[in-house]
Amino acid sequence: MGGRRWRDWGVAVTVLLALLTAAYAVGFVLGWGGADARAKLTYALYLPLTFGPMVLAWRVAGRRSLPLATRRAWRRLGVGLAGWFLANVGWLWFEAVRGVETPVVFDVVYLAGAGVMLVGLLAFPGRPRSRQEQVRLALDIGVVVAAAFVVVWYLVLGPATKVEDPDWLTVVLSVAYPVTDLVLVFGIVTALLRGAPPSSTGSLQLLLLGIGAYVVADVADGYMSVHGGEAVDLRWTHLLWLGGLLLFAVAADGQWAHATEEEAAEEPARPRRSFSVLPYLAVAGGYGLLLVVARGLALYPLGGMLVGSVVMIALVVVRQLSVLRENARLTVRYQELATTDALTGLANRRHLLEVGERLCKIAARADRPLAAVMIDIDHFKRINDDYGHGAGDAVLREVAERCRRLLRTSDLVGRYGGDELVVLLPETGADGAAGVASRIRDAVTGAPVQAGAAALALTLSLGVADSVGCRELDALLHHADMALYEAKRRGRDQAAVWSAATSSSGQGSRGRR
Ligand code: GH3
Ligand code: MG
Repeated sequence: MGGRRWRDWGVAVTVLLALLTAAYAVGFVLGWGGADARAKLTYALYLPLTFGPMVLAWRVAGRRSLPLATRRAWRRLGVGLAGWFLANVGWLWFEAVRGVETPVVFDVVYLAGAGVMLVGLLAFPGRPRSRQEQVRLALDIGVVVAAAFVVVWYLVLGPATKVEDPDWLTVVLSVAYPVTDLVLVFGIVTALLRGAPPSSTGSLQLLLLGIGAYVVADVADGYMSVHGGEAVDLRWTHLLWLGGLLLFAVAADGQWAHATEEEAAEEPARPRRSFSVLPYLAVAGGYGLLLVVARGLALYPLGGMLVGSVVMIALVVVRQLSVLRENARLTVRYQELATTDALTGLANRRHLLEVGERLCKIAARADRPLAAVMIDIDHFKRINDDYGHGAGDAVLREVAERCRRLLRTSDLVGRYGGDELVVLLPETGADGAAGVASRIRDAVTGAPVQAGAAALALTLSLGVADSVGCRELDALLHHADMALYEAKRRGRDQAAVWSAATSSSGQGSRGRR
């Protein structure tokens, strides 16, 4: 994998962009070149750094192994970046080369590009959600965007509204840019909070970081423009913009690299995480800024009330977090209770069938074998009758434990009913499963089982079947059941493997369910 990745041109593009950015950063720190050359170079550098991520995003859009929605999202990000590229061509030509003001159409192209990017971010697939979850999502997004608004308002938007005798175009633009940033924050937060597929989370986090850098740079630049700062070519914000664009490229290339892994592994039901830390960070950020800005305020009346309010909010948030933690703990506990058999600690029948269905589907789709071993303790009723129900329970627990110790984590073992256990073995055919059955039998019959004071010698009967020729879990279990019946019929204390012949002699019914 490593070798192939390095020959991949996406990596080469990304590395090249990283080198360019690094060279610029070094030049910036050391203060190379005259003002004019520096300005031209700065504007010129944006061309490869918007063109590169654009091409990489489009490449991801054509990646067939990715979900369609993911590809659509990247195509739109690519279109948005194309807008940014065009705008940068305009800025380079008019601003840096000809030294005149850039026609406003390039601003419009840039802002439209950001709009298309928002549409792209919203197109990332999320997992299905209930109504309550959607409401919570909307609230979380609202909190984050409100906090971002507080910052943007204080630094750029607010001051822009106070400009005396404003040129309407300047005002519109100086408001449009920070609002665009808010829009991008909204898009990225939405994509992340909606729970994108695992193959996209890494890239989305990089995009978040990139857009974060962009927003900080935009806001800082807006602040400097309003309050009068360094000349444009000397501003440190270029490092953030360029770094942000570089992160876009890394994100797009990362998405390309992670395209195939997900398709292979059908995701098992991921536990739902309803908690997101983002809104809390946003609240902390918003109120932090409020306190900083208000530090010059007289304590009476507003200063003291403000401090009191912030403390109140903090206490309520901490209280809510503790409730959330308790709920999360309970959820995990209830999930355990709902899926495990209380006596043996194995999967219960319902969970066994549920996961079994899924394993069966995956096996059928990938054309891979799946095997089932059905295990039944011989004459178990006698143990109950002779030693009591408690002894019977102890035997069941010990048999379950010996099975569990033998199996791999990818295998699934559950209690199917009374004294009957079922093991499902992915990627295993009948021969392999017969081997597992024989090891289970050895493990249980090889040493007596302690039940209270008595040490009992047990025997097992086992039925083995694989999914070759049957695509449904029902059929697979039915075959294993018939093989088990055959093992009992042949005198117990043995394993039998299902075959069509077993099926005709057993008539498929032990009449027990
Ligand atoms: P065979 O060799 O044909 O399997 O004979 P068997 O006695 O094992 O017959 P069968 O499988 O029909 O009997 C299962 C018994 O398991 C019947 C039931 O009383 C007992 N049993 C079911 N669940 C439990 C349990 O949770 N604890 C205990 N101690 N016994 C149970
Ligand atoms: Mg039995």
